Amino acid sequence: MFENLSERLSGVFDRLTKQGALNDEDVKTALREVRVALLEADVSLPVARDFVKAVQDKATGQSVTKSVTPGQQVVKIVHDELVHVLAGEGEPGKLKIDNAPAPILMVGLQGSGKTTTTAKLAKRLKEREGKKVLMASLDVNRPAAMEQLQILGVQIGVDTLPIVKGEQPVAIAKRAKMQAALGGYDVYMLDTAGRLSIDEELMQQVAAVRDVANPRETLLVVDGLTGQDAVHTAENFDARIGITGVVLTRMDGDGRGGAALSMRAVTGKPIKFVGLGEKMDALETFEPERVAGRILGMGDIVALVERAQETMEAEQAERMMKRFQKGQFNMNDLKMQLEQMQKMGGMESVMGMMPGMGKMSKQVKDAGFDDKIIARQIALVQSMTKKERANPALLQASRKKRIASGAGLEVSELNKLIKMHRQMADMMKKMGKMGKGGMLKQAMK
Ligand code: GDP
Repeated sequence: MFENLSERLSGVFDRLTKQGALNDEDVKTALREVRVALLEADVSLPVARDFVKAVQDKATGQSVTKSVTPGQQVVKIVHDELVHVLAGEGEPGKLKIDNAPAPILMVGLQGSGKTTTTAKLAKRLKEREGKKVLMASLDVNRPAAMEQLQILGVQIGVDTLPIVKGEQPVAIAKRAKMQAALGGYDVYMLDTAGRLSIDEELMQQVAAVRDVANPRETLLVVDGLTGQDAVHTAENFDARIGITGVVLTRMDGDGRGGAALSMRAVTGKPIKFVGLGEKMDALETFEPERVAGRILGMGDIVALVERAQETMEAEQAERMMKRFQKGQFNMNDLKMQLEQMQKMGGMESVMGMMPGMGKMSKQVKDAGFDDKIIARQIALVQSMTKKERANPALLQASRKKRIASGAGLEVSELNKLIKMHRQMADMMKKMGKMGKGGMLKQAMK
C-alpha cells in the first residue's frame, strides 16, 4: 500500500546508512529527499514540513549511540516520527463497545465503501470478539443499498434489521436501538446514507441520526485513493458530525498512501482500520508500528538501534550504580537524573515509580518542585564548570553568583538545587550501604 513511498525512502536511507560519519549537510540533503518523497506520496505540505522538522530537531539533539552508524540512527528517528504521526490513543483495532447494545455509526460519502466496511467490521466483531451484532441500513434514498447490506448480512451470518418501506432514517435508527436491546445484541451498526459530495441535507440527516443513537463510535469511511480529498472529507465530517475514527478503504489499490500519513496530523482523528479489497475478510487493523515498518522497510535497522540504545542505557545505569554505592554522587549525576526524569514524564511520575518514594514525592511537590523547574535546574548545572560539577563542595558565594547569572536565575534557586543534591547524595549513600541497591535499580528501569 505504500510501495512508491517505501521505495523512495529506502533509496534515501540506503545511501545514508552506508556512510560512516554524517555531517549536517548529509542529514539535510537526506531530509530534503524525504520531504519530496512525502509530497509525491500526496502527504499534505504542512504535515511533510512538520515531519521533516521534527526529525531534524531530534537528529541534531541526539547523542551518538555506540555500535550503530549515525545513518542508522536517523532511520530510527524517522521511524519513530512516522509512528508518532500515525498513532492515535488506545490499542489499535479496539472500539469502545463495552456497554451493550453499543451503537456504531458508519458515515461517509457514497461509493466510499461504507456498506462493505459495515459488513466487514460486523464480521470481525462477531468472529474475533464474539459479539452479537445487528446491522441496519439507513439509506432510504437507495433501496438497493439496503438490500446490499441485507445480502452481505446473510453472507457473513450477521442479522440485519428488517426493511420497512417508507420509513425515515431517524425512525429506523430508533427501531434498530430497540431491536438491539430486545434481541440482546452487543452492538448495533447504523449504515447511514451517502451522497456523492458533502451537502447540507446529508449532514442534517446524519446529525439527526447521531442524536437519537448517541453512538459510542462514529467511524468515517473514506476512499484512500482520493488522497488529500479523503483528509478534507474527514475534516468536514468531523466538524459537522464529530467522528471518533477513520476507515481508509481501497488501500489495496496503487494509491500513494498520503491520506494515511496526513489523516491523524490534520484531523486529529486516528485511522482505525484499512480496507484491502472487496472480500469480507479484507479489513485490517491499522497498526502504526507495522505501517511505519512497512513504509520504511528497515525493520532490521530499527531493531538494531533499539538494542544498541538499550545496551547503552544499561551500561550507563550500571556505571552510575557502582559510583552511587561508593557514595559518589556529583552534579553530573544529578543532571543525568534530572534528564532521566524529563524523559520519563516528570518528577511525580518518576517518584511514583520508586518504592518508598511516595512520601518524598509529596515533599518534593510541596517544596515547589514542578517539571518546569527541572529544565531550570539542568540549566544551572550546565552553568557550572567541570570542577564544580565534580566537586559541589566548591560552590561558595562568588561561584554561586556566577553560576546563577549564567543560567539567568536567582542564587536562591541554585541554593535549592544544592540542597536537593545534598539530600539525594545522602540518600544514595544510605542505599549504597544497604548493599544491594535494589531500590535504585528499580528506579533506573
Ligand atoms: P458505499 O456506497 O459507500 O456503501 O460503498 P460500497 O460499500 O457499496 O462499495 C463500493 C464498491 O467499492 C464496492 O464494489 C466494494 O466492493 C468496493 N470496495 C469497498 N471497500 C473496498 C476496498 O477496501 N478495496 C477495494 N478494492 N474495493 C472496495
